[in-house]
Amino acid sequence: MVFKCQEDSFLKEFTSRVVKCEETTEPIVEYGKVSKFEGYQVTLENTILFPAGGGQPHDHGWLNGKEVVQVLRKGDEALHFTREPLEVGTFVSQKVNWERRFDHMQQHSGQHLLSAILEKEHNLPTTSWWLGAEECYVELNSTKVNNDVIQATEDRCNALIREAIPVNVKFCKINDPNLDEAHTRGLPKDCIDTIRVICIGSIDGNMCCGTHVSNLSQLQVIKLLGIEPGKKGKTNVKFLVGNRVTKTLQLMLDREKALTGLLKNEPSKHEDLVQKLQKNLKISNKNLSNVLMELAQYEVEKLKNAQPKPKFVFMFKKEATPDFNRAVCKGLEGESLFMFFASEEVDKPKEGQILIQGPDEHIKVLGQQ
Ligand SMILES: [Zn+2]
Repeated sequence: MVFKCQEDSFLKEFTSRVVKCEETTEPIVEYGKVSKFEGYQVTLENTILFPAGGGQPHDHGWLNGKEVVQVLRKGDEALHFTREPLEVGTFVSQKVNWERRFDHMQQHSGQHLLSAILEKEHNLPTTSWWLGAEECYVELNSTKVNNDVIQATEDRCNALIREAIPVNVKFCKINDPNLDEAHTRGLPKDCIDTIRVICIGSIDGNMCCGTHVSNLSQLQVIKLLGIEPGKKGKTNVKFLVGNRVTKTLQLMLDREKALTGLLKNEPSKHEDLVQKLQKNLKISNKNLSNVLMELAQYEVEKLKNAQPKPKFVFMFKKEATPDFNRAVCKGLEGESLFMFFASEEVDKPKEGQILIQGPDEHIKVLGQQ
């Protein structure tokens, strides 16, 4: 079945009749994260809420104002997950969470464009793709992807976005001779009664059940974030499209502003300043360690010369390191003193080290405790 959202992906409101409403405990899957659910699955005569498919996550929306938290395709039906039941036979007004849907449309159409350019101009076919809560990636069937290819692909995709090339959906039957041109990337098995082909001008034609923009200009911009090794023999190319680019840029600016406040200097100096801080910290740590070793020697001498000789020593110094404690213990070996040393981990107030040393009979009893 072709749903209303697949006929017109820009429809934000729609009315349809409730066909079925059953209780369910099927979990909710949100960008790969699974969570428990108890509620209802509602079937409607038709829907503008997209059920997950083709790599595109499901929509969120409302049925008569009642929240739809998941939509899944089961055979020919779309199941709407709600926390409250809806009466069978009644008409309900549907509303799609447009911000979420349009974001998915930008990422999904962006992926088609990206995959087409990588395959046609760089011989790098896409084997799968992922649309996550923050980032997306295409998985390429190669380990030889370099930064020049990434830059050229990003430039080319953005040039095509500026050309405002129309994106059309063609419907064909399984035996259509034109289908040879299209690929079967990500097409669910239950989508093959009527085949949808998403065409980006003359650049690409791809079978897909997802919702797409109607013109490349609606993508605004595509940003490739770089490559990382994928599964065996594969490379993942991370990307962002449209609003995600501006949102991510804002996040980065906020982070940079916070760093500017902390480092008290402009962003272009951040790297130098952090390097200097790290270097100074290393020197400070080295100095502290030297001073602690001298202090350990001093403590050893003090205890050796104490009159009368103490029976036990207890020591807890905030700045003591395990090396310091060991050095004092070593210096007092053979003094038949019972020693109890404690030290605290930097940044972990409840974690640290306890060191005891002394005559066997004491260690056996107190060590256990
Ligand atoms: Zn697709």
